[in-house]
Amino acid sequence: MLEKILAKDNLDQQDIIYLLKLEDKADVKRLYEKAREVKQAYVGNKVYYRGLIEFSNYCSKDCYYCGIRKSNQEVPRFTVSEAEILETAKWAYDNAYGSITLQSGERSDPLFVEFCESVIANIHKQSNQELGMTLCMGEQSKETYKRWFNAGGSRYLLRIETTNPELYEKLHPKSSLHSFEQRLACLDTLREVGFQVGTGVMIGLPDQTYEDLAKDVLFFQAKNIDMIGMGPYVVHNDTPLGAQTIEQNLNTMQDRAWRLRVSLNMIAVCRILLKDVNIAATTALQALHPLGREKGLEAGANILMPIITGQEHRKAYQLYNNKPCINDTAEHCKNCLFDRVKSVDNQVGYGEKGDSPHYYKRLQEG
Ligand code: SAH
Repeated sequence: MLEKILAKDNLDQQDIIYLLKLEDKADVKRLYEKAREVKQAYVGNKVYYRGLIEFSNYCSKDCYYCGIRKSNQEVPRFTVSEAEILETAKWAYDNAYGSITLQSGERSDPLFVEFCESVIANIHKQSNQELGMTLCMGEQSKETYKRWFNAGGSRYLLRIETTNPELYEKLHPKSSLHSFEQRLACLDTLREVGFQVGTGVMIGLPDQTYEDLAKDVLFFQAKNIDMIGMGPYVVHNDTPLGAQTIEQNLNTMQDRAWRLRVSLNMIAVCRILLKDVNIAATTALQALHPLGREKGLEAGANILMPIITGQEHRKAYQLYNNKPCINDTAEHCKNCLFDRVKSVDNQVGYGEKGDSPHYYKRLQEG
């Protein structure tokens, strides 16, 4: 059965569910092997860095799972100054990181929009437009997306979190700020504005089914998505969903091992089906296993997001518990990730932007 599915050119929902459920060691090994074959053929064995700058944890939203949600009073709030962000971006450039990712809590007030626009434009300028920039600053108006795009942002990552609207509702307060339809519409707007568009989901959420996840993968395909950033759901104690997950005894070692396995299977399935997209081995994988990100690369991912946020801010930017690297510096993370990439026989694409090949194909096809 497994070989029959792996030989197919396109996968349907049932095929995907079959692959996501694989847990036998030899089967999983075969699945990853196939994913690596496709990775080699379509994107090569280079891994591209997106130095992650988590520049502000102020957030207007109250997502039930997220550690920096508005109602979490336990987190000291910060915004990194423009000068410091520029310095961090310069470090990335000087160290031949081809790209950075700017990430923050979600705000859409004029002050924030303008601040981001200036930061993006100045990073663009100081790096002679050579540094790729992925933005991850949530739902915004078309006008804001345009301003940030024109300032020099070229990619945008906005996770849909889950494509099941009922599950989405369980994860968010019922308010216009947390509308599934609006988040969905933002993905289309980003495409119209010209960004390389990335999305993704959390994997292993309470009440999420294999069918939900298979539909997520088919959604990425149908939406012609260029980049995927997805990872396991990881509990954060000071959140409603985190507390509920623990209370319902759904965060045992077995649960976490299961979330990790399904996340890796998701990466492999996305690589096998979508082929030429960029897929990140996200930090959350490492929150569940010390070698989580290496495993992500072995399962078909080709993007790493080394945290370059200043050490003093890392503790206050915890979306989930057990976030790795919070006591490290950018220099630590650089050396450590180089070793991780080498350990799985991949190379770092130093000094290259590493844009999504799918994006260029999409442009060609009009
Ligand atoms: N506010 C921005 C980006 C910051 S959050 C936005 O809305 O896009 C980035 C991602 O972290 C979210 O999209 C979510 O998928 C992930 N995240 C948040 N809490 C998490 C948790 N408890 N476990 C795993 N991932 C989480």
